Amino acid sequence: MSDESQELGITESKSHKPGDWYAEVVQKAGLADYAPMGGFIVTKPRGYALWEGIQDALDSEFKATGVDNVYFPMFIPESFLEREKDIVEGFDPEVAWVTHGGHDELEERLAVRPTSESIIAPFMADWTRSHRDLPLRLNQWCSVVRWEATETKPFFRTKEFMWQEGHTAHASDESAWEEVWTRLGQYENLYEDVLAIPVLRGKKPEHDKFPGADTTTTVEALMPDGKSVQGATSHNLGQSFAEAFDITFADEDEDERTAYTTSWGLSWRAIGALIMTHSDDQGLVLPPTIAPTQVVIVPIWQEDTKDDVLEYSADIADDLEAAGFSVELDDRDERNPGFKFNEHELNGVPLRLEIGPYEVEDEEVTLVHRPDNEESVEDRDEIVDAVDEHLDEVFDKLYDAAETNLEENVREAYSPEEILGTIGKHGGYVKTSWCGDEACEEAIKEKIAAEIVMQPLEDEGGTTAGEVPEPDHDECGVCGDPADEIAYFAKSY
Ligand code: AMP
Repeated sequence: MSDESQELGITESKSHKPGDWYAEVVQKAGLADYAPMGGFIVTKPRGYALWEGIQDALDSEFKATGVDNVYFPMFIPESFLEREKDIVEGFDPEVAWVTHGGHDELEERLAVRPTSESIIAPFMADWTRSHRDLPLRLNQWCSVVRWEATETKPFFRTKEFMWQEGHTAHASDESAWEEVWTRLGQYENLYEDVLAIPVLRGKKPEHDKFPGADTTTTVEALMPDGKSVQGATSHNLGQSFAEAFDITFADEDEDERTAYTTSWGLSWRAIGALIMTHSDDQGLVLPPTIAPTQVVIVPIWQEDTKDDVLEYSADIADDLEAAGFSVELDDRDERNPGFKFNEHELNGVPLRLEIGPYEVEDEEVTLVHRPDNEESVEDRDEIVDAVDEHLDEVFDKLYDAAETNLEENVREAYSPEEILGTIGKHGGYVKTSWCGDEACEEAIKEKIAAEIVMQPLEDEGGTTAGEVPEPDHDECGVCGDPADEIAYFAKSY
């Protein structure tokens, strides 16, 4: 490696210093920079392209399942926020307030939205007259601000973050549950089919629910460093918001009834999980399903072969583009092939095509997989099909590695010593039986900073509440009291 590419390349090690390594990948792969205010980031073109990929995938799913996009103001009057008391209490320590407009003090403070139930619900109330207006399904793509007290980290936890928030109203509890599962399923599909990250579905324990929610369901992803990431949440809000904001409707008999509401959100934390899961000491690794550039062609020439190699490469680029792949032909004169290899590795391009005079002569192409440098040679004539297959193989390699990590890292433990020892030694999830008392979580959290990240769900039928299955052990893994729930402990992001 030249000095220059060493400077450009990753110097930290993922296994030894995951935090420093992560920060370096984010910056050197051109995803984000730190903003001048602590806890905020500047998203650069390559980082934003990942967010757009996530948006495209989710937005089309939402629209295909009855959701309309809207946009509400970023400010919420204090009196609106106060109408649902759990929201006020839950978000109070994290709300940023606007107190002045120009030089004048405002009559009423405005909250910068930490989440938008309190400004959207009153309008849902206005727009809902009869059962025929339901279900009402709204979504907005926006940013929210939460003045996080814990350490921030690009994408995983920032004070302002991009997300989508869906808000729906329903005529029945069953319809609200169906909505909760539909959205959780769409989040699961995004993680598994687009980001190549297997997830566990579950619900949050009672004391860790979204403020005001009846039930908070979640998808959790296990990172290679043994910590869990809350990937997205889908909340059944029951009738608490509908009651607070008067979302009522006339049923078939013209009787006035209170609606049921849900909300659900996925943030750019998904990008954090994506980077952390697949990337390595050479830089970013992306599945082809989300990579802004799926294939890079690096032509390798001497002066006397340049024209032939470039023409052959450009033809292949045209064929691949025509077939719908996103392709970059890196024909820069001022960079040598080795430099280009390193740079595209750093940026996470899933598949590299190397084309030199031998390939031209033999009518072949050399293909290299980003995750493991596996190399193969394919016929020029069959390059479109070959690229398609190799991109699928790259996806499978990434998914399989993440799946193995998950499968190998769910362990059972049934005493405090065992729980602490297992998480301390291996990280990952520890499944135990639980009496339901928050104090038991605190006892573990105090010693090892692991918490109950989720409780598994019975196979939900689509229209019923998420029940936690009975544990195999009938004593709480922490305090020994009778236990009728299962809990998964883990350290988390
Ligand atoms: P919530 O409204 O609290 O249920 O959050 C919705 C989703 O946003 C969660 O699933 C998190 O993954 C994500 N999220 C919450 N806080 C942050 C943050 N500070 N930075 C990035 N993502 C966040």
